[in-house]
Parts: sequence; C-alpha cells; structure tokens
Amino acid sequence: MIKYKLICKDCDLKFDSWFASSIEYERLKKKKLLNCHKCNSFKVEKTIMAPQLINSKSKIDKNIDLKKFNKVKKTIIGYQKFIKENFKYVGDNFTYEARSIHYDRKKKSKGIYGRASKRDLKELREEGIYTQVIPWIDENEN
Ligand SMILES: [Zn+2]
Repeated sequence: MIKYKLICKDCDLKFDSWFASSIEYERLKKKKLLNCHKCNSFKVEKTIMAPQLINSKSKIDKNIDLKKFNKVKKTIIGYQKFIKENFKYVGDNFTYEARSIHYDRKKKSKGIYGRASKRDLKELREEGIYTQVIPWIDENEN
C-alpha cells in the first residue's frame, strides 16, 4: 500500500489516500475514479513533497528512500538551473511583478520566479493570472 497526499486543483483541498500501488493510482485517475471529497472535481493530483520540508535533519523520515530522494533532488536542481537561466528572480515581489506583467500588456518581460504565499497564488488565479508551483531547494542547504 502507498499513501499519497493528493491535492484538488479546484478548491486546494489536501487529503491523504491509500492505493495498492502507483499503477493503481494511475489507473483510477485515468478512469476518473479519483475525485475531490469537497467539490467533486476530478482535477486531483499527487502533491510532490517539497524537499525543503523534509530536508531538515530532524524531520527526515527514516522510511524515505534516500536514493529516490536524491534522484528527485537532482531533477529539481535541473529545473532550478533552467529557471535561473531563463527567468528573472523577483523574490518576495512575485505577486506584484506577476500583476504588473499581466495588466501592462505592452511591457515585455521575461518570465519571473519568486516566492508567494498560497493565499497570494489563489488571489492571482482569481484574477486570471496562472502560476506554476514547483518545489525548490535552497542552495545553502546542500
Ligand atoms: Zn475540490
């Protein structure tokens, strides 16, 4: 049995669900048998555990497959490299910058990345500004 943390893309509800295997999860998802308990949406996805949450030594679960974790970490660092080369870092001004790009259509801008709270992202989405959340590893933790 595998326990996955699932998230509903429509209402942001997070819940745990048990599956016989990862294949079972894919099968149920394909058949549209996975839905949100709250709003019945089928846009239910597995959440990727953010590495910074499990990176601190005190919180490392002994059951974590470190080999797998390091592989995932490598992939994330690859994404980060790509993002750093192609996007502009705006730090905590993310929400502000995202709005200014969205509303000022003449302004040509590179894609941006930065930090934003879940609430900010929800507000942006309500304004029709779509963002992508990716797990991020702090370099100084390496
Ligand atoms: Zn939902």
